[in-house]
Amino acid sequence: MSITGHTKLVGVMGWPVSHTLSPPMQNAALRHGGIDAAYVPLAVEPDRITDAVRGLRALGYVGSNVTIPHKQAVFALMDTLTAEAEVIGAVNTIRVEEDGSLTGHNTDCLGAVRAVETDGTLVRGRTVLVIGAGGAGRGVAAGAAFAGADRIVILNRTPEKAQAVAEELGQRITLDPSLEWYAGGLDEKPPIPWEDIDVVFQMTSVGMRATPGLPLDPGVFRPGCHVLEGIYAPLETEFFRKARAKGLQVTGGLEMLMEQGAASFAFWFGQEPNKDVMRQALRDAVRSREEEG
Ligand code: NAP
Repeated sequence: MSITGHTKLVGVMGWPVSHTLSPPMQNAALRHGGIDAAYVPLAVEPDRITDAVRGLRALGYVGSNVTIPHKQAVFALMDTLTAEAEVIGAVNTIRVEEDGSLTGHNTDCLGAVRAVETDGTLVRGRTVLVIGAGGAGRGVAAGAAFAGADRIVILNRTPEKAQAVAEELGQRITLDPSLEWYAGGLDEKPPIPWEDIDVVFQMTSVGMRATPGLPLDPGVFRPGCHVLEGIYAPLETEFFRKARAKGLQVTGGLEMLMEQGAASFAFWFGQEPNKDVMRQALRDAVRSREEEG
């Protein structure tokens, strides 16, 4: 890719930002799509986020992704918000409009749902379990509601957090008044029977290299249940392997990451990226990082 005076810029703001896998994924998609643009990491200290967001407009950026710890702060700096960003209260994608105004979107919530839907399971009309009530769990629960789930259960190590997220999203997302929300603790009897669950989103950090183990034994789920493991490094967690060994359909966290990136790309450039190219770039990036240790 050669950068010229015509090359457009897109970024990802985070602190730190060195861990992000988005640059190889997005740059591969830009190259493949023949788009004269480059995607760059932008290390932004927390107390400089307002200046950095203003700078996007001044520097003529197409937009930017936003990652930890800036997603909530950026929410407050937008001129317009999409329905997803509004409900979640966090922005992971900024688009600079032609008039210089800034639109905030949240593609995190769409990624997980699109990943299981691409793998063959529609979320509409289903009973969905979200394990975890942190930032990812909250976003994915909102995504399942937007996708038309019938029942959403949130289970978390700290049950009060699951309860708070279910109550808040239940009040904010009013598209379908018949949608039912349930919450509980990982160690408690589930609020609905395990065999009722059609789709599971594993959104805790349990299973990462630093925190190995299982948040919940996937043996409890019925055959035919579709499980998405949010973690992508390692590519296969214990939860992922056990769910697959039980014969459940399993989708890995890399697909979720790829789908949120693809949704951001489409939001900026008005065209779908090549997902195979993005997936391959991500796999290569994860593998080379694992080799580096
Ligand atoms: P977070 O806000 O810090 O939330 C962490 C969650 O993990 C909370 O629900 C927490 O429960 C739970 N947890 C932590 N340690 C636990 C333990 N020992 N036992 C049981 N539960 C435990 O983090 P996050 O941003 O939501 O991210 C969560 C995971 O999702 C991370 O592994 C991240 O890699 C993954 N993720 C993946 C993608 C993707 O695109 N694939 C995107 C975003 C996040 P408590 O509330 O009880 O502390």
